[in-house]
Amino acid sequence: MIKVVKFGGSSLANAEQFKKVKAIITEDETRRYVVPSAPGKRFASDTKVTDMLYGCYHAAEEGQDISGLLTGIRDRYQDIISGLGLDLSLDSEFARIGEDFKNRAGEDYAASRGEFLNGKIMAAYLDIPFVDAAEVIRFHDDGSFDAEKTDELLRNRLAKLDAAVIPGFYGAKENGTVATFSRGGSDITGSLVALAVRADLYENWTDVSGFLIADPRIVKKPKSIETITYKELRELSYMGASVLHEDAIFPVRKAGIPINIRNTNRPEDKGTLIVESTCSRPKYTITGIAGTDGFVAVTVEKAMMNSEVGFCRKVLQVFEDNGVSIEHMPSGIDTMSIFVNKENFEEKEQKILADINRSVSPDHIELESDLALIAVVGRGMKSTRGTAGRIFSALAHAHINVKMIDQGSSELNIIIGVRHEDFKAAIRALYEIFVLTQI
Ligand code: ASP
Repeated sequence: MIKVVKFGGSSLANAEQFKKVKAIITEDETRRYVVPSAPGKRFASDTKVTDMLYGCYHAAEEGQDISGLLTGIRDRYQDIISGLGLDLSLDSEFARIGEDFKNRAGEDYAASRGEFLNGKIMAAYLDIPFVDAAEVIRFHDDGSFDAEKTDELLRNRLAKLDAAVIPGFYGAKENGTVATFSRGGSDITGSLVALAVRADLYENWTDVSGFLIADPRIVKKPKSIETITYKELRELSYMGASVLHEDAIFPVRKAGIPINIRNTNRPEDKGTLIVESTCSRPKYTITGIAGTDGFVAVTVEKAMMNSEVGFCRKVLQVFEDNGVSIEHMPSGIDTMSIFVNKENFEEKEQKILADINRSVSPDHIELESDLALIAVVGRGMKSTRGTAGRIFSALAHAHINVKMIDQGSSELNIIIGVRHEDFKAAIRALYEIFVLTQI
């Protein structure tokens, strides 16, 4: 059994957190490959080391004196080293970083030092080898990720090591230039390491006990999700639920390796297990509820529209030509509505309306802004009668008018459109009917 464990920034923000991490790793000898992030926030108003590094590098680019900023970063690491009682000096690393910043080594290089240095500390603290991600995670010259080469490099290197620390977030191009994934990218590194060592499990340790059924800012103390499939996760993430970097899913999913989201501050919690498929019946009919605000519905109306061949295509073409992505498209006999993201749509609004008029000569176009979309997601819905009925009655009882309903053909989700002011109340009503008063 091999487990790859990735620890996020809040799990490594100070020496106390490092101690919890060590206890977690040493408690289970199958936890062999460790992927750390850079130190995150120690308290709400704190700054992540990654952001400090970006700030410092930008100051260097502007020709400012960066010694004060570098000292601030160095202090963060020194506090951790002293707090752990380690005999480790980062003097030479910081001298090099200072030089490299002055020589404009690049923004990605700058940000990557957060993980690099934390990896050094972690390797010393756990007394296991350090593998520089620049040697095993490969990017193409254009900055895109090179999956094939990375897998080969990582596999060969880790085959020789029973345990190792591989810092997250960065890698390098063939010529040695450091490149990073997008923010939160240590999740991806963890996934790549899990694939390379053919891990049985990829544990992603963070500061929440997995995915919650609903957003805790809307629903008070929502229950957590025990098991979720990759497909369900995709639906919920698309609608705004986020714990894991989206690109972290593909490598492990392909290899059939489950991901377990765990809480460093509550290791006794089982967290959420993300799997390809499962026969474990979900506790509730639904797995999760997520929603996003800020949509506009463009309703195009034309008598006898249903018999006009190519009508829908022409309307959609207008959105495509204007580079606006469509979220949902419920239709009636003589009407079709197109839901789009308000931000993307707003600046092109008049042009799109004019183009639709020109293209299909509708009788009427109506715009409705300030709409929210809510996704009710669950593999359990397929085998359960009456889910849509329960959604409608819950919303009706809460005096919420449903503007749109759209059931995905996989029966995995039902999307509901409501007015912005009903958004939170709708999520609460849905949570209540499916989770609190579940039958
Ligand atoms: N440290 C990087 C960030 O703050 C990457 C990560 O934590 O995953 O985005």
